[in-house]
Amino acid sequence: MLLTVTDLHASYSGIRALAGVSLNVAEGEMVALIGPNGAGKSTLLNCISGIVQPSAGQIRVEEAELVRRPAWAIARMGILQSPEGRQVLPNMSVLENLQVGANALHGRRPTHDLDAVFRLFPILQERQEQLAGSLSGGQQQMLAIGRALMGGPRLLLLDEPSLGLAPVIVQQVFEALAQLRRDGMTILLVEQNARKALQVSDRAYVIEHGHVVTEGPSRELAQDNSVMAHYLGTG
Ligand code: ATP
Repeated sequence: MLLTVTDLHASYSGIRALAGVSLNVAEGEMVALIGPNGAGKSTLLNCISGIVQPSAGQIRVEEAELVRRPAWAIARMGILQSPEGRQVLPNMSVLENLQVGANALHGRRPTHDLDAVFRLFPILQERQEQLAGSLSGGQQQMLAIGRALMGGPRLLLLDEPSLGLAPVIVQQVFEALAQLRRDGMTILLVEQNARKALQVSDRAYVIEHGHVVTEGPSRELAQDNSVMAHYLGTG
């Protein structure tokens, strides 16, 4: 396993967000985390990337323990997050944002150069001189993913990449994710859009109230009516 999370707990000022989550992601696998609002999905990603400190549990990438490492050190290991809400650098150009992403490489081998990011998201090439803050929401989302790719991810953490985007753009983002999966990128994907997340991923975990309530191959979960009805809405 590339990533192994064991019995992870986290809370915010005493409010429990994760209550003993265990999961794993193998190299080259795309794993989806799905479940209702407030289930703890973002908290889990933020614990892995070092933004939130868990109160107990382990997060291992191969043999390295991530808990209590600073976020910058985790990024330099190639554990790279494209955060919810995108958070591109608005006053820098598209090109500069992508170049900043490459800082995380820190001597590791790149997985994607500029051309590769532009092949995945051609609109970024067209807009490369434009300020990131002037892009549409969908283009900013593509830029946030492209920036993470420039850092040579060993594990790419994606938090709600389709949130707030028009359906045609959601489709483009998911097509890019499918391409990344075919390329063998290891991805942990948090998504509200369960149907799409289950279409694109290999396996999934359903999280509710800080617990894993169901897990399995995505194809099986997508056909499980009780999962779709109870946990996921219609997507
Ligand atoms: P969403 O899709 O709404 O982001 P989620 O499954 O990602 O949901 P989290 O954002 O991880 O869930 O939230 C888990 C719980 O922790 C929720 O009860 C939420 O209100 C709470 N929470 C999240 N972030 C904070 C914070 N910074 N301060 C206090 N409570 C928080």
